[in-house]
Amino acid sequence: MRTRRIFIKRAGLSTLALSLPFSDTLSAMNFKKEDKVLRVAIMGLGSYGNRVAEAMVNCKRAKLVGVISGTPSKIEDWKKKYSIPDKNCYNYENFDQIKDNPDIDAVYVITPNSLHKPYSIRVAKAGKHVICEKPMALNAAEGREMVAACKAAGVHLLVGYRMHFEAKTMEVVRRQRAGEFGETLFFQGLSGFRIGDPTQWRLNYELAGGGSMMDIGIYSINGARYMLGEEPLWVTAQEMKTDPVKFKENVDETITFQMGFPSGAVASCLSTYSLNNLDKFFLNGTKGFAEMQPSTGYGPIKAWTNKGPIDAEHITHQTTQMDEMAAIILDGKKPMIPVDGEEGLRDLVIVDAIYQAVKTGEKEMIA
Ligand code: NAD
Repeated sequence: MRTRRIFIKRAGLSTLALSLPFSDTLSAMNFKKEDKVLRVAIMGLGSYGNRVAEAMVNCKRAKLVGVISGTPSKIEDWKKKYSIPDKNCYNYENFDQIKDNPDIDAVYVITPNSLHKPYSIRVAKAGKHVICEKPMALNAAEGREMVAACKAAGVHLLVGYRMHFEAKTMEVVRRQRAGEFGETLFFQGLSGFRIGDPTQWRLNYELAGGGSMMDIGIYSINGARYMLGEEPLWVTAQEMKTDPVKFKENVDETITFQMGFPSGAVASCLSTYSLNNLDKFFLNGTKGFAEMQPSTGYGPIKAWTNKGPIDAEHITHQTTQMDEMAAIILDGKKPMIPVDGEEGLRDLVIVDAIYQAVKTGEKEMIA
């Protein structure tokens, strides 16, 4: 059997964070007045960029202070809405000059996927911390370049994995690590929505780097890893296409995939652009289970276990994410579930293996 060996390091959950009770983990979000604030410029003022900007209004440790956009009218709107000074506004041609701007600490890259790598590397070279949306890049090779560039520049590279800071998710992960479900031997991840406009960048291979797997399936990959607390050894995958006109070559509509883990656990997942409201995680162990539905949408997230519902306040995910990312960058805080470039890279290695498995029809080895 043909196999491909891909290297992945084991996930590094912070021992400190895991030893904290749930309430203390959350209270770590209560920041003190004298704490420094992370000054952020958003690049890409589209749908998600707008969502992040609105959420940041309620941040305590992160502040939107700048924009990078190719559309002057959007810059004008944002200047008024968020009181952004002229000197903190850039376009895609001149944003390297941000290196001379002492009032911006970090740039949040929220552009189509294929621009994540080149723009993140330019930001790093300008000496600013990089926050980049998922998928971090188009493939693992690009991801490695980004990690290396940020390391060379001495800046943080963080990925917009907002679920890593979501209270109910963190509580399920804490209980799994504490052994409350026994040996967790099965994970199911279902991630999908029905995509509209056939001309959008998400259906353009050059800009998206693939189809549903890059955009929404990555939540099931990432979820399997944080819910099980292990890194997969192998993947198998199968692709289905009902509309080859809308979903052109290399743009996947639906992929089912399976992952095998060192403990013997298996994950069975579905990624699709053809079904609405598909957003469910299920974790089963020898002593109990956890179920989340919705599991990765904007919330409120619902979670319950064999012992009953998990209750936690819903806070806008992007508000918590940006405050926590400020604490990571400014205070060196170690999050319970990592959000750094290595974490983004691990998912990309698995995405590569899944696409390879679709092509070969064979089991692709990852360790
Ligand atoms: P969008 O199309 O609404 O916005 C993209 C923005 O990039 C637009 O403002 C567009 O003008 C700009 N852009 C710059 N160069 C471009 C080019 N060459 N072609 C097209 N647009 C260009 O998309 P979005 O939904 O905001 O997604 C942006 C990124 O955010 C994607 O990587 C996506 O995966 C990610 N995202 C993450 C979440 C999350 O929950 N973490 C949710 C949605 C989107």
